[in-house]
Amino acid sequence: MKQAPLTGFSSVCVHAGHEQDPQYAHLTPIYASSTYVYDSAEQGMHRFSGKEDGYIYTRWDSPNFREAEEKIAALEGFGLSLPLKAKLHASGMGALSTLFFSNLTAGDKVISHYSLYGGTDEMLRKTLPPLGIETIFIDMQDLNKTEEIIKADPSIKMMYLETPANPTLKCVDLEALCGLAQQYKLISAVDNTFATPYLQQPFAYGTDYVFHSTTKFLNGHGTAIGGVLVGKDIEMMRGPVEKMARMLGANSNPFDSFLLTQGIKTLEVRMERHCHNAMEVAGFLDGHPAVARVNYLGLADHPDFMIASRQMKHAGAMLSFELKDGLEAGKRFIDRLQMCLRAVSLGTCDTLICHPASMTHYSVPKELREKYDITDGLIRVSVGIESVTDILNDIEQALA
Ligand SMILES: *Cc1c(COP(=O)(O)O)cnc(C)c1O
Repeated sequence: MKQAPLTGFSSVCVHAGHEQDPQYAHLTPIYASSTYVYDSAEQGMHRFSGKEDGYIYTRWDSPNFREAEEKIAALEGFGLSLPLKAKLHASGMGALSTLFFSNLTAGDKVISHYSLYGGTDEMLRKTLPPLGIETIFIDMQDLNKTEEIIKADPSIKMMYLETPANPTLKCVDLEALCGLAQQYKLISAVDNTFATPYLQQPFAYGTDYVFHSTTKFLNGHGTAIGGVLVGKDIEMMRGPVEKMARMLGANSNPFDSFLLTQGIKTLEVRMERHCHNAMEVAGFLDGHPAVARVNYLGLADHPDFMIASRQMKHAGAMLSFELKDGLEAGKRFIDRLQMCLRAVSLGTCDTLICHPASMTHYSVPKELREKYDITDGLIRVSVGIESVTDILNDIEQALA
């Protein structure tokens, strides 16, 4: 049957990557099978050599992986007419491992910025250096300084960006930095977890890779851990990236991929609601007498408001705020919540509220934490899609 063109973002969310099931099931069933069978030795040979498209072993590929991968690749490339290939992983950290190990060897350096997800920061600071891969951390909002450092050190091979960053929401300029990476022939990679392809498309600025923890907004319901690496160099994705992912054994599994596929279908609808609710919550907190400051990219006084407005469709679902009375007030606020949930992670339908100093960034030394603006009294909110009145009422009573 002729496939209608998918012209809108939500149509791609719902339909891209789907193939008609041989039994006519509406949804692609969960292929709970570790291996696949052949009609003949010859067919086996053709599948192994790649001459015949088909499945062999679920550490390598599965119909459930492929559906989610094609959806994500179509969304990251939406409107860009850029063919992309995605590789699904067991977690964001799994996808990140494939990115670093398939692109870097001993003697190579990475250039990155201070505010990064805790696990990424730890991987760059602790896991990679003993293997001979060092990272130079600088303030990448300073473009001149960034260029100076890249120019002076030919062993820098990769630029690694996260914008907006977890949990500080600091942004870096994708257009300028990806341009710099291209000029100096660096591989560039962007963690797009906080923005999702609905709000921000790093490939539009020429990046080589986009990385996601699919655990967050792409899945959207908090039902599975997952990660994805998306690349525009198809040969690289089919070759070294695919090989490394197989060797690391960081593959996804059919059930989690199935959940991810269903979650992505509502990405646009959820993000619109998430962002609308977040703006309301930020506005409410901004005027509250118990709150010292609010950190939300949608507020015009945010230092990165201009960068975010340039490269993001809306300001996102994440915000943080500081209570006037610091640590004790923070703990008291968290303990009094009645509907919003006390949990780390983010990007679910439910509003999740956490305290980075004692949770996500506990392993980062205090002086480094403060350098990243993660103070002891900081509260982070992943604003959910509940009716906004209930979110506001819960926060109001917890602050009272
Ligand atoms: C959660 C997260 C990761 C790590 O992903 P996992 O799925 O937990 O392995 C990486 N980057 C960002 C921005 C995240 O929020």
